[in-house]
Amino acid sequence: MVANRHTCCICHEPRHPVEKHHIDEDPSNNVWENLAVLCRNCHGLVTAKSSLGSRYAKGEVLAYKRAWEKRCAEVGAEEIESPVEEIHETKLIEGSENEEYPFDMDEGDELVFSLDANDFLDVVICDEDDIDEWSEAEHDEESPLPDCYWSRTGVMEGEYAFVAPEEGRYVLLLVNWDDEATEVTVDAAVWEAEEK
Ligand SMILES: [Zn+2]
Repeated sequence: MVANRHTCCICHEPRHPVEKHHIDEDPSNNVWENLAVLCRNCHGLVTAKSSLGSRYAKGEVLAYKRAWEKRCAEVGAEEIESPVEEIHETKLIEGSENEEYPFDMDEGDELVFSLDANDFLDVVICDEDDIDEWSEAEHDEESPLPDCYWSRTGVMEGEYAFVAPEEGRYVLLLVNWDDEATEVTVDAAVWEAEEK
């Protein structure tokens, strides 16, 4: 991910969540040479099956990957925007458990993230302190989630962005309400405030 500046190797659009694409279409082949970093949009185009076949041949994707990684290795942050912090992982959240992803953000910094889960999750962005308070309290129908800046309930997938209203430590909290474990792939990156 770092070698690609957390940015799609085909469209080069910064500030979008990315996914790992297996170039040979074998999901167990996780060697670096077989993984291309793609945004969700380009990933959809690459994996789309139409009567004419995929929009991109495997060799083409590999060429995009190599060219982009070469460019990322050669030029500095002033030429290609890079995130301040990034996370990309697949995680099993047990029933009735939560997962916390903390980020230190300055005013105006943007957290861009995507989720892809096999069951519904509640998603919250809040201050770290509010989580502590919430974990200690009894949860009931009245206060099912901590005080927060942003929340969505019943999420299985999606692409979201949040801009920090002030400097602070923010937590992306995933809540698994039911008793079943949920597998989720989380992609998240913090990008510096855009210069106006
Ligand atoms: Zn793209």
